[in-house]
Amino acid sequence: MAVTSLVLVASGLVAWGALGTGESKRPLEIEVPAGTAVATDPAGAALALQELRRAIETNDAERARSVAAATPTAQELLESLVTNAAAARIVDVSLRYIDEQGSIGEDGTWTAAVAVEWRYDGFDVSPASTETVVGFVVEADEVRISQIGADSLRTPLWMAGPFAVSRTDSTLVLSADAARLGQYARLAGRAVRVVSQVLTDWDERLVVEVARDQTGLERALDVEPGYYRQIAAVTGSADGSVSEVSAVHVYVNPEVFAGLGMVGREVVLAHEATHVAGDGPTSRAPTWLVEGFADYVALRDTDLPRSRTAAQIRQRIAVEGVPDELPKSADFDIRGPHLGAVYESAWLVCETLATLRGGDAVRRLFVNVSQGASLESQLEEIFGIQEAELTALWRDVLQDL
Ligand SMILES: [Zn+2]
Repeated sequence: MAVTSLVLVASGLVAWGALGTGESKRPLEIEVPAGTAVATDPAGAALALQELRRAIETNDAERARSVAAATPTAQELLESLVTNAAAARIVDVSLRYIDEQGSIGEDGTWTAAVAVEWRYDGFDVSPASTETVVGFVVEADEVRISQIGADSLRTPLWMAGPFAVSRTDSTLVLSADAARLGQYARLAGRAVRVVSQVLTDWDERLVVEVARDQTGLERALDVEPGYYRQIAAVTGSADGSVSEVSAVHVYVNPEVFAGLGMVGREVVLAHEATHVAGDGPTSRAPTWLVEGFADYVALRDTDLPRSRTAAQIRQRIAVEGVPDELPKSADFDIRGPHLGAVYESAWLVCETLATLRGGDAVRRLFVNVSQGASLESQLEEIFGIQEAELTALWRDVLQDL
């Protein structure tokens, strides 16, 4: 069934009002020039999406180009969806037209929200499901796809343009910058090894996605522009959902990441991989334990001195003194002014615990509390202390930095 909704161009307005004294109360009609009323074609758009989905399923780049608008940008974009999907083994793809967004352009283009589902075979348990913005245009009586993605809604990275892909049994890395793929793949492999030394029963499945730039990252995770400007990488679910089966991946901010030294890059990826392995988004542990444990795992095998790994908290202490309490969740706001210092202080809580009873005790505390045991009971059971004692020991460590 063809459902066509008419959208009038800007001049197509009917204003109601009196023309002036003495005039009749007939409406004032602004003439709409013939031919300027143009229509979106949701049914045609749905067909185009279906054709694109089949092209992806059958690895048919030519077929994808045939539903793209007649611009090099659109042709290359749709072709890249097919090559991305083949290289990364993207399966369970579904593309469903939801509703148009805003009004139709003078050139007959319009954008619509499209429901997208996809899954990285061998890595994701269930498909991610989100909505993205797709642009359409009618060419030669057929609806073609002119663009994908916008600041509103989410733009999955594999739909944002060509990606270079590296795949092993335990890592899947997608990078918009092909020249850096090898480096990201090495870092991802290293991160898996580092994390598996601590979280030994992890099933070793790490997906790392690297957007072309910060904007690409922010669109992929549907956050406002600038939100990740302090963040080198972030772990989250591909569609924003938080459940046991959510597809949890690491997303790199290439602009901040490139500014780190090699050891910094290793630490960042191992930190994020710890979140993936430790069920970051669904963890019920307090933020200081989630973040402190990730840094504990990531820094465990580095020989970085505390003068570097605790430099920012030492500076804060010089200004503000030693904090009275363990870091609160709100302290980890990623736009916060002293974020680095907060992370370092959380890491030092885990270091304090490791000094007491060793690394395996820290791992047990993290795993048990993540899975819902109370912090109090686990501190008591594993370390024989209460939170107040832990805080006092940690404050001593901070004092001695
Ligand atoms: Zn983290």
